[in-house]
Amino acid sequence: MADVEQVIIVGSGPAGYTAALYTARANLRPLVIEGFLWGGLLQQTTDVENYPGYPEGIMGPEMMQQFRDQAERFGTRFITDNVTRIEPGAHGEPHTVWVDEDEYKARTVVLAMGAEHKKLAARARRSWAVAASPTARPATRRSTRTRRRSSSAAATRRWRRRSSSPSSPRT
Ligand SMILES: Cc1cc2nc3c(=O)[nH]c(=O)nc-3n(C[C@H](O)[C@H](O)[C@H](O)COP(=O)(O)OP(=O)(O)OC[C@H]3O[C@@H](n4cnc5c(N)ncnc54)[C@H](O)[C@@H]3O)c2cc1C
Repeated sequence: MADVEQVIIVGSGPAGYTAALYTARANLRPLVIEGFLWGGLLQQTTDVENYPGYPEGIMGPEMMQQFRDQAERFGTRFITDNVTRIEPGAHGEPHTVWVDEDEYKARTVVLAMGAEHKKLAARARRSWAVAASPTARPATRRSTRTRRRSSSAAATRRWRRRSSSPSSPRT
């Protein structure tokens, strides 16, 4: 039979790493099964500016690396893979967690798998997702404003052209 862990944490976003930090500091030697895509949703973003403790803001992936390092410093262990099945233990028996064929037992299992957004069934969704990835150039407030201003200027020019032409109906 597999050794019984005190705590297994499933998921590695801010919630998973925070649980890991606290349980590690309580000497519970947590095992984090962090998912294949470790670090959670903040890996997908650029500037995070609303977390206390980062007066200059921080890039999402860098922040998640720091969360992970801090949990590791106090003895957290990691498995970078997805949990495929969980069976709660009955009558005080340990819970069982599977990663494919590998079986782990724990007295406590913390579920921190976050949420997945619903995806639009739109054809361009994939290219939008790529454009929104951290490697893409982030849209600054200035460039968004400039784009908005120039597109509204173009709309005004179109409207003027149309309204000055006698054949076109006014809208
Ligand atoms: C583009 C973007 C920008 C954002 N910007 C900000 C911001 O600036 N400030 C802010 O406060 N919030 C921001 N958020 C929201 C923030 O990312 C979430 O609130 C936060 O990540 C939720 O944390 P979580 O730990 O609950 O879950 P998540 O971050 O979703 O993490 C879930 C984890 O569970 C793992 N997992 C899932 N299933 C399994 C499984 N079967 N086995 C093992 N692991 C599994 C995943 O791999 C992941 O690591 C942003 C979100 C997005 C998408």
